[in-house]
Amino acid sequence: MSQLTPPVRNNFFDTPIEFLKGVGSQKAALLNQELSIFNFGDLIQYYPYRHEDRTIFHKITELNEQMPAAQIKGRLREWSLAGEGSKKRLVAVFSDGTGVMELVWFQSISWFEKNLRPNAEYIVYGKPIAFGNKWSITHPEIDLLTAENAHGGYWQPVYSLTEKLKRKFIDSKAISKMMRTLLEVSRPHLAETLPAELIQKYRMVSKADAVWNFHLPQSYAWLHQAQRRLKFEELFYNQFRLLKNKLLHKTEFPGLVFDKVNLVKEFYAHHLPFTLTGSQVKVLHEIHEDLKKGKQMNRLLHGDVGSGKTIVAFITMLFALDNGAQACLMAPTEILADQHYQGLKKFADSLGINIGKLTGSTKKKERDVIHRELLDGSMQIIVGTHALIEDIVQFQNLGLCIIDEQHRFGVAQRSKLWAKNSRINPHILVMTATPIPRTLAMTLYGDLDISAITELPAGRKPIRTVHKYDAHRLSVFGFLKDEINKGRQVYMVYPLIEESEKLDLKDLMDGYESVARAFPDVPLSILHGKMKSKDKDFEMQRFVKAETKIMVATTVIEVGVNVPNASVMVIENAERFGLSQLHQLRGRVGRGAEQSYCVLMTDYKISKDTRLRIETMCRTNDGFEIAEVDLQLRGPGDITGTQQSGLMDLLISNLAQDGEILKVARLCVEAILTNDPDLQQPENAPIKVHLSKLKKEQTNWSRIS
Ligand code: ADP
Ligand code: MG
Repeated sequence: MSQLTPPVRNNFFDTPIEFLKGVGSQKAALLNQELSIFNFGDLIQYYPYRHEDRTIFHKITELNEQMPAAQIKGRLREWSLAGEGSKKRLVAVFSDGTGVMELVWFQSISWFEKNLRPNAEYIVYGKPIAFGNKWSITHPEIDLLTAENAHGGYWQPVYSLTEKLKRKFIDSKAISKMMRTLLEVSRPHLAETLPAELIQKYRMVSKADAVWNFHLPQSYAWLHQAQRRLKFEELFYNQFRLLKNKLLHKTEFPGLVFDKVNLVKEFYAHHLPFTLTGSQVKVLHEIHEDLKKGKQMNRLLHGDVGSGKTIVAFITMLFALDNGAQACLMAPTEILADQHYQGLKKFADSLGINIGKLTGSTKKKERDVIHRELLDGSMQIIVGTHALIEDIVQFQNLGLCIIDEQHRFGVAQRSKLWAKNSRINPHILVMTATPIPRTLAMTLYGDLDISAITELPAGRKPIRTVHKYDAHRLSVFGFLKDEINKGRQVYMVYPLIEESEKLDLKDLMDGYESVARAFPDVPLSILHGKMKSKDKDFEMQRFVKAETKIMVATTVIEVGVNVPNASVMVIENAERFGLSQLHQLRGRVGRGAEQSYCVLMTDYKISKDTRLRIETMCRTNDGFEIAEVDLQLRGPGDITGTQQSGLMDLLISNLAQDGEILKVARLCVEAILTNDPDLQQPENAPIKVHLSKLKKEQTNWSRIS
């Protein structure tokens, strides 16, 4: 194949990157390898993460220490070597007519010695630093003055690049040069992707202008407009796919009809252990409405720790059982599965329902029985871990899947559960105890209906949270003694970070010993991830039965553990926990009628972010408020974890900052799907075209990964 004739492509943007003028096969191979840029489309979507201001030239006499960077046009005088060993450097004298400064290189000295031209005119760029009365820039960016760059007046895009690329001289300058070449030939191919009406209504710039100005902005104002437009587009299509999916489920996917309510009535009348909160009742209504419709339910049940999701899950299961179907509940960890099983079994026993538990550690003999009973339908409810999605697990008639702590499961796992009923998809209820900011919920769970339990059971006192320094440990221990004397129980949690598990275990053991010394007469439990699950169970059971008073543990207790008599949560090294994790941990107490406390222990020295986390915890118990702060602190990627990355295909939008754009985009999508769900109207043609392009990109992508 000739290097010069690109193969014929249906789509201009599928053209391999080596055919871009000035790229060639060697650079192309590097771009493939280092950045997964294979074709024109990949490159044009490789947006810069910031821009440097090269609009004006500074004078040496105008420099000041506050400048993050300066651009200076001047003449290179002479240079010499200075220093020795690691201090060895090349120092060049540079003057611009107003003054003289130094340019300094510690690296690539011989290259610069060979290539710098004495008395030539250059443009340099970098952070100016004053030594005495002399200005200098270390490792400046330096370019010969040419007719093209002599006027400044531009914003330099900065691309995320690897060291290897930079060593091969593919830096941001080089990429922006390629980009200019590509943008010039791309103009006729950059079709509009949004309906004209939307562009007009929200005063957006065209697709072509946006792409051009995101890379090579004419001005700062243009850059801003370009980013706003492309973020809108990205969020618009993100929401379009999610909402279209949701619509499809509602209109096309048949669901089992659960309209009989015998067990539900009996349970309500005779076995309900407490009065449901208004929120629980409301949520159950929403669920039941879904279950009667004959369409598959896809609903998220959102409720803070302790809000009472378990009983809602159980009654939802009863709807299934009442209509001859089976129900399952999948949890991400064995401890949590066990906790759910214990909670549900109490309810189930009161109605004579056969409920089982299946996890990785279920014995073969027991496992065989469960498999058989699920298949013949005599087991009505099964609770478990991902052991449930193994192919060998077959149901007679699975009608409802409840998935707890969904964010720990991948989407693929979710759909595997679905497939367990080959005739008709079971209803899906996803439960999460992690309050999620609205913007995140709209993208992560945008294809689900959402029900939220927004109130805690009556009589709960808000947990009091305090911050204590390690030096105050004695007074904290004194407080714990008082609480234990009142009959309460205490958790003491140590961080567990996987990279340093050994160290963490040592922290935990040291902590355990110091607690044992301070409380010689108090029975203690210890719980950590390295223990056998039999031993974990044993310790957990002792604590549940109040045989032990203090539970010293790592974060394995984070999810699900329910001991209403425990009223104090002490979190050691609280600076090492994220906000949502602190909130989850705190949720282990405050589950009974007693006043509960959370004590956050830290060192004296803590960072600004840590202080904000601690202050937030001390100020509020509201999970949603905490989640918002968390989002601002950590950004969306860290909150959701990698498992959701399939849904979070956002390249340029940042949900922590772009919530407003997201809301508008979603409203636009809703309006379009209401008026023209199949995109028949001519004005919606750009959407139709772009969607099919996105779909193609996605299939290409899934073939690669
Ligand atoms: P979570 O939403 O964290 O799963 P649980 O379902 O474990 O919460 O409920 C937390 C505690 O509150 C349990 O002890 C449960 O029995 C109790 N509970 C739940 N709903 C109510 C209610 N309406 N009134 C009183 N107590 C309730
Ligand atoms: Mg729970």
